[in-house]
Amino acid sequence: MNCGKMEKYILGYVDGRLEARELRKAEAHLAGCAECGRRVTEFRAVSGLLEEMPKIMPTEGFDARLQARIAVEAARESWWAWLAPAPRVAFAAALLALLCVWVGSRPRDVDAYPHYAGAEMRAEDQMRMVKDLPVLEDFDVLENFEPLADLPPAVQAEGN
Ligand SMILES: [Zn+2]
Repeated sequence: MNCGKMEKYILGYVDGRLEARELRKAEAHLAGCAECGRRVTEFRAVSGLLEEMPKIMPTEGFDARLQARIAVEAARESWWAWLAPAPRVAFAAALLALLCVWVGSRPRDVDAYPHYAGAEMRAEDQMRMVKDLPVLEDFDVLENFEPLADLPPAVQAEGN
């Protein structure tokens, strides 16, 4: 055991709370370390002082006030604290919000809403929109577009 480790065990050693194995190691270290030995003496002195101090019992009024305050704090926290220990609830809420956005932004299903069929984009309009896409103006981009190279030749010919 070194001095750093001894620091962790020193309180337990002074209070006699160390397990047999820890106690042996602490004693072995103390036998060769004056620094830690002095610290043990100091801790014993403080510990002795604390033992000698009169025990102060809280009055009944103090106890009641403390209990009331703890209850108020607990009630105040519960308004906000319910989300913190429930990441799954927060995750579900986020998922629900995402789902709402997705459903809202989805194009309407023409089969489910036949009266919307007239609003469907005509083929010419679709072609015009595709032609207006800026990326199509840059022929080099399309020509060297890697995924197109994977297409079978027949499909590529049709595209041209
Ligand atoms: Zn030491």
